[in-house]
Amino acid sequence: MPEAVLQQAASEMLNWQGSGMSVMEMSHRGKEFISIYEQAEADLRELLAVPAHFKILFMQGGGLAENAIVPLNLSQGGAMDFVLTGSWSQKSQKEAGKFGTARVAATAQSEAFTTLPAPATWQIGADSRYLHICGNETIHGVEFHELPDLKALGCDAPLVVDFSSHVASRPVDWTRVGLAFGGAQKNLGPAGLTLVIVREDLIGHALPHCPSAFDYKLVADNQSMYNTPPTYSIYIAGLVFQWLKKHGGIAAMEQRNIAKAQLLYDFLDSSSLYVNKVAKDCRSRMNVPFFLRDESRNDAFLAGAKAANLLQLKGHKSVGGMRASIYNAMPLEGVQALVAYMREFEKTQA
Ligand SMILES: *Cc1c(COP(=O)(O)O)cnc(C)c1O
Repeated sequence: MPEAVLQQAASEMLNWQGSGMSVMEMSHRGKEFISIYEQAEADLRELLAVPAHFKILFMQGGGLAENAIVPLNLSQGGAMDFVLTGSWSQKSQKEAGKFGTARVAATAQSEAFTTLPAPATWQIGADSRYLHICGNETIHGVEFHELPDLKALGCDAPLVVDFSSHVASRPVDWTRVGLAFGGAQKNLGPAGLTLVIVREDLIGHALPHCPSAFDYKLVADNQSMYNTPPTYSIYIAGLVFQWLKKHGGIAAMEQRNIAKAQLLYDFLDSSSLYVNKVAKDCRSRMNVPFFLRDESRNDAFLAGAKAANLLQLKGHKSVGGMRASIYNAMPLEGVQALVAYMREFEKTQA
């Protein structure tokens, strides 16, 4: 979280802009909250340059719930295709299989998810209802730096992108996207809010047993207030959107994120103690997994990092090693501090 956002939220916690209420105490249908909601939506639309024929939905359930909600809304009982590039896309495919035929169009599993399968090799069925990718694999540290152009691959199915962990870190080419979803908690704000941005023509085809609160048409027709939305999370995300605008918007964020990631990767590649195994053309700018060549030093590395106030560096348990998550709110100085610590630690290991 940007510190300025936390400070503003703290100052408004008890009494939002003279309303006499905390945002938590407001009715989601009152004029105060509606103004917060509308501003947040407009700011997000502007920041991500979302075209008018896409709806922005503020939902709940996180990325994992969308793994079910997307097939409930888009599959129409037909088959879906998935590109497996790490744990998250694997989870998505498995979950979608509960609601229809979820095929694997390509997988990088044999390369331990350190590369992206080239789009030209993807096997997409002619009857595909949609093709799913995970834009940034948070655990394996693999990112699509360009969204695939399905039309150029001869595929008319819409592209579904899980952009949970890199939303707002880079621009989105909406001409290539049918639907993008993501939990807010990595780059947009607190947990509890799930963002869905969906092309209008894909709405209104939910399966009959789709829960009403998860039917994109009902959600869209009710301005995300078919059920009570996660009001406080929307409010905080709205403050993050304003912070993003103030700091130059998504293009500026992207430049900042490129600089942060490059600093860290250049150091990793120059080091003889640390290693990142991901192919250079698909290294994530948000999540940088790395290993100590001598893994018996892992605990010492983490203890020293903690003493230097460098937190949450332990890798996901499924891959081990370390992981630096350098989301939008992480300043360049944070990455510089990490590299300085890693360099010092390496010296002590000679
Ligand atoms: C964190 C994450 C999720 C899961 O989000 P929840 O909000 O925990 O459901 C899904 N996809 C990706 C890519 C993620 O990074």
